[in-house]
Amino acid sequence: MKEISLYIHIPFCKNKCMYCDFPSFAGKDNLRDRYVAALIKEIKMKAEQYIIKTVFIGGGTPTYLTLEEMDILLSAIDKLKFADDYEFTVECNPGTLTFEKLKLMKDRKVNRLSIGLQSTNNSLLKTLGRIHDYKTFEENYNLARKAGFDNINVDLMFGLPDQKVSDWIETLEDIVKLNPEHISAYSLIIEEGTPFYNMYNNDRLNLPSEDDEREMYHSAKRILEQNGYHQYEISNFAKQGRECIHNEVYWMLDEYLGCGSAASSYVNGNRYKNEENIEKYINDIENDTTSVEEEIHNSLDDNMEEFMFMGLRMIRGVCEKTFEKKFGVKIDTIYKDVIDKHINEKLLVRENGRIYLTAKGIELSNYVMSDFILT
Ligand code: SF4
Repeated sequence: MKEISLYIHIPFCKNKCMYCDFPSFAGKDNLRDRYVAALIKEIKMKAEQYIIKTVFIGGGTPTYLTLEEMDILLSAIDKLKFADDYEFTVECNPGTLTFEKLKLMKDRKVNRLSIGLQSTNNSLLKTLGRIHDYKTFEENYNLARKAGFDNINVDLMFGLPDQKVSDWIETLEDIVKLNPEHISAYSLIIEEGTPFYNMYNNDRLNLPSEDDEREMYHSAKRILEQNGYHQYEISNFAKQGRECIHNEVYWMLDEYLGCGSAASSYVNGNRYKNEENIEKYINDIENDTTSVEEEIHNSLDDNMEEFMFMGLRMIRGVCEKTFEKKFGVKIDTIYKDVIDKHINEKLLVRENGRIYLTAKGIELSNYVMSDFILT
């Protein structure tokens, strides 16, 4: 049996955050039980023929499900065949966790939590439209430790409206005191269709300057590294051996199955995206159809481009041998000129069979990566 990773999407949230363009919805709670039943049907259909290497239940807010709904879902997943060294992450949001839910997850193979905090500053949390304050996060985090979780990620965001560099430094310092195993630090992107997008267009968002945002990124690197977290991807930092294996599957262009509304799969070099509309997804699955809304048959060029884009996000970069093994051609045959150009500009390094971004290359990563587009 082949090993594979599994992503499971829970599209429900208590409220919609001001910056969020993820396929998640508030006010659809009446669909939750039918959704869970459909999801289980899809998981069985797709995943029973594999050995599961990693699971990531994301959203939305998976822990917004009731204890009973979580029990039904996790019990079904529990019956799949797992690899011995599996990783099983559930995304959580403060304010939706209870000790019972945490114990249930612990009893049902979940061995990693990813908690969305974003900031320890209550006024910034309010601006973002988050449902919790920092105290609620701290309580939930301590409960998770009490329930026995020893592998926890905390999601943080910088470049927020009205955020000063000192606010960000305070957030980083607060979090390292709690000593989670993994920290993600993303910069806020103003996405079309969000309340922040409209406010931005009406000049009502006071975003930090580019210089301040760069300073925030550097502070994250410095403070996290000083506290034992090594940067292994542009936005991800971990204690040794606590890198997220599931995310590495995406960055290495390995195969994964996606179940649930809007979930994507990548199998046999092709991408499949499920229907985003929750009602339509449920109806499709109840009627024994696949609910695939979009099927993209990647060309060899598409796959090579994606491998480079995703791989260069990792600090260790891409492995030349893996490229050759995946695509049957040497990396130089396709990319020698681009690689040489960026080595000359000191944005890329080529060393020990790997190609990776320099510190300056990370800051200019969009520019470097755009050169790897083949068509
Ligand atoms: S909790 Fe997460 S998924 Fe839900 S609205 Fe906020 S950012 Fe989006």
